[in-house]
Amino acid sequence: MFSDTKGRWAVVFIAIYPKIFAVMEPPMACRRLWHLLNKEFGMILIAEDNLVNQIVIQQMLADTGYDHALVENGKLAVEFCKTHKPDLVLMDISMPEMNGLDATKAIRSIEKETADRIVIIAVTAHAADFDRNLCMEVGMDDFMSKPLSMGRVIEMLDSWLGG
Ligand SMILES: [Mg+2]
Repeated sequence: MFSDTKGRWAVVFIAIYPKIFAVMEPPMACRRLWHLLNKEFGMILIAEDNLVNQIVIQQMLADTGYDHALVENGKLAVEFCKTHKPDLVLMDISMPEMNGLDATKAIRSIEKETADRIVIIAVTAHAADFDRNLCMEVGMDDFMSKPLSMGRVIEMLDSWLGG
């Protein structure tokens, strides 16, 4: 059917592509496909200063179908929320410049002047009840403790964004 090299590669690609989806978990394959067709999943901001955690979370989100952006401290998170209005923030608590608690306070204070309300999820290694309460007191909506798992992240995003 194809005489040139490109054509042969196209045939190989078409043959392999369904198998790529087949080896992925079926719901994940559906999510990816739905996202590619509709791009309806919403925008997530990751506020995280640790390089390894940045890579892990970005990789997880790349597989979920949600669009995402990354900032490395609380101050940049506040600026990003002002200008881009993400649907949800995964907010590390311990960050340089401005920590996640102060960043959340600043975002909630800005929101008082508008009708917007961004979902803010605390992401922290400190999983004690004290930390959870502190996060809720400053206006965060939910809490995830590190290390994160793919299942937990998807469950959290879907419950807040209805993906
Ligand atoms: Mg940190």
